[in-house]
Amino acid sequence: MVRRKQIYEGKAKILFEGPEPGTIIQYFKDDATAFNNKKHDVLEGKGVLNNRISEFIMLGLERIGIPTHFIKRLNMREQLVRHVEIVPLEVVVRNVAAGQICKRLGLENGTVLPRSIIEFYYKNDDLGDPIVSEEHITAFNWANPQEIDDMMAMALRINDYLSGMFGAVGIKLIDFKVEFGRQYEGEMMRLILADEISPDCCRLHDMETGEIMDKDRFRQDLGKVTDAYREVARRLGVFRESENSGQSGPVLVSDNGE
Ligand code: UDP
Repeated sequence: MVRRKQIYEGKAKILFEGPEPGTIIQYFKDDATAFNNKKHDVLEGKGVLNNRISEFIMLGLERIGIPTHFIKRLNMREQLVRHVEIVPLEVVVRNVAAGQICKRLGLENGTVLPRSIIEFYYKNDDLGDPIVSEEHITAFNWANPQEIDDMMAMALRINDYLSGMFGAVGIKLIDFKVEFGRQYEGEMMRLILADEISPDCCRLHDMETGEIMDKDRFRQDLGKVTDAYREVARRLGVFRESENSGQSGPVLVSDNGE
């Protein structure tokens, strides 16, 4: 087996050098962390599900003209992506109050927000990813005003797309987090969507029952985390249950021959 060079290991993913310059391989682990790494567990099969769900969403976003780092899925746990310089910001879009915004602004969990709200957090684990304003972002050169505008415009389009996509299968999109990266091509630079979009970084509630179908199941010790992710994937049509009731994990509908 060819040994690949590992570039970076994060909480839920490992990045390896790609086969060509400008590409990297993104490997989805089963690890789950929350509360700035204080809570950790291994959820068998989560990486496989997130790989597929994120692929499905990235392809959908490409189709509506959002540039993404996604090139192709390689196998159950890996995808080939464009190498980018990650903007050190987490961009959160909220439709309904949940999580941090409730504590910060004294809002009741579940309050429908007057409009979709975009927030920026500085990616820094030592500081616990603090919320920052555009003033901080431009003063410290994390992104320039044009890049902030581009990220906000893309984040809102992603929100519209995801809200419709999940809404169509009976899932309410409460909020989500995305990350962007700079792709350099000669003299040119463009901002593209990077990282992943999966139930690890979205809040997703069943529209009928209100059941939580995202990483909050892990954060709140609700159990059946991967079952919920599998249900999200099933509703999106990403895979069908195996004949023997899904005990052996997801069965792919269409496969790239892995
Ligand atoms: N989120 C994330 N990574 C983070 C922080 C937040 O993916 O490091 C996602 C989270 O899953 C939720 C949204 O961003 O869908 C908003 O999270 P919030 O700011 O409320 O933080 P939390 O309450 O999750 O700590």
